[in-house]
Parts: sequence; C-alpha cells; structure tokens
Amino acid sequence: MSALAQSITLIESTAPSHRLCARKVLEGLAEHGRKRARLVAISGVPGAGKSSLIETLGNQLCDNGLRVAVLAVDPSSSRSGGSILGDKTRMETLSIRPECFIRPSPTGGALGGVTRRARETVMICEAAGFDVILIETVGVGQSEIAVRSLVDCFILLLITGAGDDLQGIKKGIVEIADIVLINKADGDNQVAAETTRLEFEGVMHMLSPSTEGWSPPVLAVSAHEDRGIAETWRAVEAYFEHLEISSQLLSRRRQNNLNWYRSHVAEELYARFLQDPGIAGEIAHIELAVLDGSLEPSLAVDTLYEKLSPISLSN
Ligand code: GDP
Repeated sequence: MSALAQSITLIESTAPSHRLCARKVLEGLAEHGRKRARLVAISGVPGAGKSSLIETLGNQLCDNGLRVAVLAVDPSSSRSGGSILGDKTRMETLSIRPECFIRPSPTGGALGGVTRRARETVMICEAAGFDVILIETVGVGQSEIAVRSLVDCFILLLITGAGDDLQGIKKGIVEIADIVLINKADGDNQVAAETTRLEFEGVMHMLSPSTEGWSPPVLAVSAHEDRGIAETWRAVEAYFEHLEISSQLLSRRRQNNLNWYRSHVAEELYARFLQDPGIAGEIAHIELAVLDGSLEPSLAVDTLYEKLSPISLSN
C-alpha cells in the first residue's frame, strides 16, 4: 500500500521532475495493459451521506472478497485549503481494512488539474489490482460532468427535505445518472424518502437514458441502517452486465477517453493562451471594457482571438 501511496503522490506532484517520472510510470502502465476495475462515481451535495454510504458499501464489498479503492474528486478543496472528501476519519471502519485504500482529493489547482490527477490515480489503482474503484465527488456543478468521463457507472445520491426538489437539482446531473439513490430512508424520514423515490422514478422515465437500453433504477437507502445497500450493489452489477451484454462497456470507455482528452486539450490550450504574457496583459483591459459596457462581449472575444496567431503554445 505504501508503494501505491507513493506512486500517487508522484502523480499528484506538480514539480516538473516529478511530472516526468509520473509520465514514465503512466507509459509503463499503458504498455502493460490494465486489469479492468469497476469504476463507480458517487456524487451528492455535502451532507447527502456519501462518506457514510461508501463506508457501508465498501465494508460489504470487502466482506465479499473484493479489493476497494476510494478516491475523491473535490475541486472546492483547493479553495478551502484542505480536502473535505475521502477523509479517513469519516470512514473509520473502512479505512483500517487491509483490502481497502482511501485517498483524499488532491488539493490545489482547478477542476481540470484535479480530474487529471484523479484519472492517473485510477490507472495506478487498476494496475494495483483493485476490483472496485469508488470515486466520491461533490455535486456542485461542473465536477460531476468531468467525473462522468472517468467512470463506467455514475450514482447520484439525493436526500429529501433539503430543498432538493425537482427544480433544485440541476437537470444535467440527473441526466447523467445510471442509478439514483435517496439516502436517509430511515426513522421518521422513510415515508418522505419513498415519496421522493417515486417522484424521481417518474422523472427518470421521462429523460432519455444516458446508457442505451438502461432505465436508471431509483432506490431508497439508509447508509446508517444498512438498508438498500446490497440492492444498490446488485443494481451496479446489473448495470455492468447490461453494458457488457450490449457491448457498450468498451465503447463507453473509449468514448470517455476521447471526451476526457478533448476537454483537457481545450482546457490546457486555454490555460496556456491566458498565461501568454501578451494575452495576460491585454485580458484585464478587455475584461474591464466588457464590465463598463464600452466593449461588446462578442467583439471582446474577436479582439482576444486576433492575438492568438503569434502565440507559441510550446511553453
Ligand atoms: P457527505 O458530506 O455527503 O459525505 O455526508 P456524510 O456521510 O458525512 O453524512 C452527513 C450527515 O448525514 C452525517 O451527520 C451523517 O451521520 C448523516 N447520515 C449519513 N447517512 C445517513 C443515513 O443513512 N441516515 C441518517 N439518518 N443520517 C445519515
């Protein structure tokens, strides 16, 4: 496990000499081919119960003889200065199991950097022989769209009574879900959870499924009382079976790779473009002009693009 942690630390480092080593490690992995793990994202707003669910589910998977890695993708952690996800103290029983490896979100950097390092970490965990890789991510916007292209199966974790009615939940996120869970279906909350479950079942029927031929199940679960967790994993297995039978697993991974590559090329080009001294000096003026209304936004884009051609992108 310590070699694994060290490899990941290398991957996460932004020091140029480490990046070079990391690239060699990744090239080596690509050459050897990877054992395929089940890559599953669990997304939900803070407080939805992601850690609790992973703790309960992860323990069950380990009990069934599987090796489980838990990674976190949390771009907000760079702002708060610390990782709020994947925190070992929040998965007390799981983190001490030898079959399990928990890695908090790397801190620092924008979403692109965080998901890039997460992807490389996934490669290392697959090479290390984990059967299941759970990726915990906060449901706050762009991050889950980026995480979607890292995983095979995307689980959306919801709760009732937190203002998360149908309007409050961004449609785009519901659309990419393969399985929807309504957590905290226990105690006084059971009836409300069932009502929400039925509502979402209706919603999911109306949406075009993100995976052809798969109608995303909606389950009410309780991470605390271990209710619906075994069913959740059965749903995950059924989903993978569907992907395999319909020959979509490989094509989805390839499409994911292409999507991921495209978005990161765009991001990298944009970042380098903005870093160019000629552009960096100009951009503040352009933005001010847009802000005070003296420059039309579309003209501002043209003005910026005109600067593009002489720029070297080799830095
Ligand atoms: P995260 O921020 O999404 O990782 O959420 P946590 O797992 O930290 O849980 C947030 C809060 O909800 C904590 O106080 C948990 O004890 C509570 N919680 C999590 N799962 C359940 C559940 O199944 N039932 C109930 N009643 N509370 C839960």
